[in-house]
Amino acid sequence: MFHKKNDNGKLRENQNRSAKLRIERLESSRSGRSLCYIDQDVLEKIGLSTGDIIEIIGRKRTAGIVVVDSVDRGKNSIKIDGIQRQNLGSTIGEIVTVLPSIASPAREIELASTKPLYDIKKQADIIKGKLIDKPITTGDIIDVPGAFIQVEEDNNPVIGSMRMFAGRTRVRKPSVGPLKLIVLKTKPRDEVIRFTRDTRIKINKKIVYLNYEGIILSYEDIIGLNDEIAEIKKALELSFTYPSFYIKSGINPPKGILLVGPSGVGKTLLAKVIANETNYNFMHVSITDIFQKYQGDSEKRLKQLFEAAENDAPCLIFIDHIESFAPQIQKGMISNAWYFEHRMVTLLMELMDGMYEYKNVIILGTTHKYDLIEPALLRPGRFDIIIHLSLPDVSSREKIYQLYTKDLIIDDEVSLSQLSEISVNFTGADIKGVVRLAMINAAKRESLELQNELDEISTEILGNIKLKKQDFLSAIEEITRRFNN
Ligand code: ATP
Repeated sequence: MFHKKNDNGKLRENQNRSAKLRIERLESSRSGRSLCYIDQDVLEKIGLSTGDIIEIIGRKRTAGIVVVDSVDRGKNSIKIDGIQRQNLGSTIGEIVTVLPSIASPAREIELASTKPLYDIKKQADIIKGKLIDKPITTGDIIDVPGAFIQVEEDNNPVIGSMRMFAGRTRVRKPSVGPLKLIVLKTKPRDEVIRFTRDTRIKINKKIVYLNYEGIILSYEDIIGLNDEIAEIKKALELSFTYPSFYIKSGINPPKGILLVGPSGVGKTLLAKVIANETNYNFMHVSITDIFQKYQGDSEKRLKQLFEAAENDAPCLIFIDHIESFAPQIQKGMISNAWYFEHRMVTLLMELMDGMYEYKNVIILGTTHKYDLIEPALLRPGRFDIIIHLSLPDVSSREKIYQLYTKDLIIDDEVSLSQLSEISVNFTGADIKGVVRLAMINAAKRESLELQNELDEISTEILGNIKLKKQDFLSAIEEITRRFNN
């Protein structure tokens, strides 16, 4: 949906002023500002100097600002930061083409966030202020430095309680830290453009989810769940795009779709891919969005969310781990917690029952604890569609191994097909865990200093290290041990 293409026509036009350069890492103190440190000799040849804007073409394309690199003269290199490499779809050592660019001022730029920010519209001006003169192309992911506020102050119970305790002192608003934004659309279209003070910023309410590499999540990131994807898409299409199907057939459209399956089989991943790849609005509701400190506020919040979804229709309300939100109403001792859960489950059922008023809204829930869900919620007319996701079979396991090892250097003795055969009952999450552990094993074997085992291990940290069969086998053993504990 948000993918960008290379422009080979432009490449041909500018051939005399283009250069092919090898990507190198830019030190982190200089990252986040679209700076591209380029070999001085090359810049002289193609007539560019510090401050000029370039288009960079790799597997995808992006834009950057030239800085003369006189230190690594003659190396034919371009030093860029991680986010630019992601925008290019290219890694260190790969060859990219750079071209001069005019970078016209943008009339309008439409952005979406990768994190839920309810008041993002109010923060549009602050965002623009931080991006003046930044060159971009459609599909780019951009880092916006600074601290951004997560929810509107009036609706935020945390701020309310902090204020009570803080007395007269100033209360800091909860922040989500720096933002990652996705460039959805630009005017003018399909060219390198730059932010100016006059650029109109449109913030799309849609949250865009990123994959494990920090790239926009798409169907390619999910293995072996094609039937499940097709079933969800069909239900959404019939309800949202062709409602006449239900009206004519006299059947009620589904109010809820529930994804059921063991932990780690990809239920959340599937929901996020659906969010990115379809054009419907998607509201990701977490328990903390609903559960409020004071009696009555949680019910109010849940009703508000349903109303907001109706205003944004067609809209999917996504509730992950719905069993913790709507647990089975236990008989027995009536405690405050019991009373609260009872009220919330009842309200959720009432809201679903009354959903004919909330046209074009469907709840997408997930659970790995099906038995704990209040059975009344599973009756037809509430979660009408229940989709069971099972463990990946051996061929899907192999494809999942291929997905998570595609950027790694692997020894010839490693057979992914053999690894898949011995990874019996492994979920997608387990296989991703095996690959991550194998990377750590390889790094340790080569005595690479890992600051902290919990840190993200990456292809960049590994450099040219080859992953060996034993790295994977030890990782599989470790994951199997975790199963058994
Ligand atoms: P839980 O019930 O514990 O929340 P889940 O079923 O929602 O688990 P996810 O959170 O979607 O599982 O999966 C965790 C990670 O495992 C995903 O982000 C993805 O990286 C990987 N993964 C799981 N299944 C697949 C799959 N079929 N294809 C590719 N990656 C997968």
